[in-house]
Amino acid sequence: MAVENVIIIGSGPAGYTAGIYTARANLNPIMVEGYQSGGLLMLTSEVENYPGFPKGIQGPELMGHFRAQCERFGTRFIQRDCTRVDFSSSPFKVYLDGQVLEAKTVIVSTGAATKWLGIESEKRLLGKGVSSCATCDGAFFKGARLIVVGGGDSAMEEANFLTRFASSVTVIHRRDTLRASKIMQDRAKNNPKISFIWNSDIDEVLGTDGVTGARITDVKTGAKREIPCEGFFVAIGHEPNTGFLKGQVDLDPKGYIILKNRPTTATNVNGIFACGDVQDTIYRQAITAAGSGCQSAIDAERYLESLHG
Ligand code: NAP
Repeated sequence: MAVENVIIIGSGPAGYTAGIYTARANLNPIMVEGYQSGGLLMLTSEVENYPGFPKGIQGPELMGHFRAQCERFGTRFIQRDCTRVDFSSSPFKVYLDGQVLEAKTVIVSTGAATKWLGIESEKRLLGKGVSSCATCDGAFFKGARLIVVGGGDSAMEEANFLTRFASSVTVIHRRDTLRASKIMQDRAKNNPKISFIWNSDIDEVLGTDGVTGARITDVKTGAKREIPCEGFFVAIGHEPNTGFLKGQVDLDPKGYIILKNRPTTATNVNGIFACGDVQDTIYRQAITAAGSGCQSAIDAERYLESLHG
């Protein structure tokens, strides 16, 4: 079996950018795209904040451009999921359904998945008033009444950001204490457009073609009520796609890959690099993912050079 120079696992903005850079560096990269290629942007409608597209662009179209640019410089693609890896010795092994690949270096860019409440109405109204990304969709809700679910930094950040567009934002949290950092809490609590509903679970997002409200239950009293709104933002966290990496690279308690030598993208395993949302607990933007994909490509290139003395 031929030992590849670089295998890239994952195909969002980070992975594709790593593909473009490693291909242009003549490393002949191979990308394990996954069955659902393109990452979270494939689930987004209009992307208005990716530089270079002043009129905005649809998420899937943007990812199509990324992929085409990879292909232009010779990146090879495998449209299957990676099921497990063996990084215990070089060459590193990457297992797919029914196939194993070997490489001198691996770039992991498998991203993160939005955490959802898991109720039927949330799924049904996704893209019709239900969203998980204020940065992506906030501008579509000018003058609207919005609900944000969650009590962490993401929820506070989304709530604050949404007040630029919304007439009001109601944060609904399942406890009476926020998990968010003090500074983010204070910012939200001091924002006149933001109010809080505590100790409440979401039973159902209301509406047929668009969101009209949410039915909630007070977990202390059991009382149910309906809160009217036109937009419903879920901000209860993300889950990094690292299940297949357990025991192979160091992960933090939430499963994010830990970078060991910032500002490089090196993990604790020499020759394994990580970029994009799989290692990012703070920014999680397409443009930051793309930037870190470029960093991983350059890190991998330098690592390969170091192997040849
Ligand atoms: P998080 O800190 O895990 O908070 C998630 C919040 O959602 C918690 O309040 C949690 O409630 C709630 N929640 C979780 N599952 C729920 C469910 N099924 N139903 C209802 N509520 C649920 O996640 P995060 O806010 O995305 O933050 C993740 C990390 O990124 C943190 O380290 C954070 O500091 C960082 N971050 C930083 C910034 C910033 O500094 N600008 C911005 C965003 C994120 P409980 O509190 O009851 O558990």
